[in-house]
Amino acid sequence: MRQWIKQPLAVLAEGAEDGLVVEGARIVELVGRGSRPSAPIDQVFDASRHVVLPGLINTHHHFFQTLTRAHPAAINKELFAWLTALYPIWARRVRPDTFRLATRLALTELLLSGVSCASDHQYLFPAGLDGAMDIQAEEAAALGMRMTLTRGSMNLSEKDGGLPPDDVVQDEDAILADCERVLGRYHDDRTGAMMQVALAPCAPFTVSKRLMVDSVALAERFNCRLHTHLGETHDENEYCLSHFACRPVDYLEECGWLTERVWLAHGIHFTDEEIHRLGRHGVGVCHCPTSNMVLASGQCRTKELEAAGSPVGLGVDGSASNDSSNLMEGVRHALMINRLTYDAAAVTHFDVLRWATRGSAACIGRDDIGEIAVGKEADLAFYTLDELRFSGAGDPLAALVLCGAHAADRVMIAGEWRVADGQPLGVDVAKLRREHGAAARAFLEAL
Ligand SMILES: [Zn+2]
Repeated sequence: MRQWIKQPLAVLAEGAEDGLVVEGARIVELVGRGSRPSAPIDQVFDASRHVVLPGLINTHHHFFQTLTRAHPAAINKELFAWLTALYPIWARRVRPDTFRLATRLALTELLLSGVSCASDHQYLFPAGLDGAMDIQAEEAAALGMRMTLTRGSMNLSEKDGGLPPDDVVQDEDAILADCERVLGRYHDDRTGAMMQVALAPCAPFTVSKRLMVDSVALAERFNCRLHTHLGETHDENEYCLSHFACRPVDYLEECGWLTERVWLAHGIHFTDEEIHRLGRHGVGVCHCPTSNMVLASGQCRTKELEAAGSPVGLGVDGSASNDSSNLMEGVRHALMINRLTYDAAAVTHFDVLRWATRGSAACIGRDDIGEIAVGKEADLAFYTLDELRFSGAGDPLAALVLCGAHAADRVMIAGEWRVADGQPLGVDVAKLRREHGAAARAFLEAL
């Protein structure tokens, strides 16, 4: 089936002024101004009300945290105090049924903001949640979304002088065995894959050095990516200096993690030399502007990182530090915080849209998504400018970012519609809201 996405109001692609042709799961032709598709088509989609972007790609999240949004124990705190307040609540309350609802809710929210490919840094494994990655794979498949399942891990806890309580961590052998199981079952490294797996120790300081090193070996064996938190706060630098007598990037290097398989969440507190070292090795950075502002963590030096050779992507981060899962909102926040770091001319709407698409794709090691071009997967997000907030806007692409687009009217993934008229297909949104809300109420009760 060949479908012409005809004459969009605007499109983030060169030479596609009159649209693009989708055949099966791929983009097969761009239609330039005044042209028509070169071969017969089966269906026309009139996109004259739509601004069309490549589907957005979210490269950092913690879905289970949707259960503790705006939690009274955690609001108005910086990272370490915030984590210490929430860990015991998560440890005692996250169960497979609540985890499934949190996953479904976060994925649906992402999808409705225009995300076609999600990832979730799932590092919390209390007793009974051994099937967390399977639950996430099932939920992403049910929504028709692409996903990088990011198998997180923690094996150092309070008993070892770490922050997490003892009952949310696993031992090293159990972690590695499950990583191998999840890779074997879900990791597809072929072009067009709907599901991939990355290995993701929560932070280099919540796992043993052996687990960091062994994760690299496993990633090489299965040709998958590696992910972790790094450079989020000054506290982290001090912790690393006092416990390891070196800075976080040095420790990462000691563990064999300075490779282009790696993308880091946050990447804020680096020296100039560290930025060059990360760039030289092609280590990617997922910039999380909303979370960084909420937790007052600091400003990622996106421009220097990109200039040094690091891919820069975008992420919403977990829903207790960015209490929404809206990546389009994150695009706007990225523009704002980066203009504060640099200046108005240095950071444009094209930069922030690139981070949310091509940059994110590069972070997770994909060259088949994140761009509207011939041969790429047909992952597309369509926005209208019908809301009052857009009235009077001149440049449609800039308007998405500057006026604050937050909801896609349509989303196509691998050539299939997954959102139509602002609604996720196959999801009863009211029921999901009711069930997730009821599950989350238990997280407010005293422990
Ligand atoms: Zn995070």
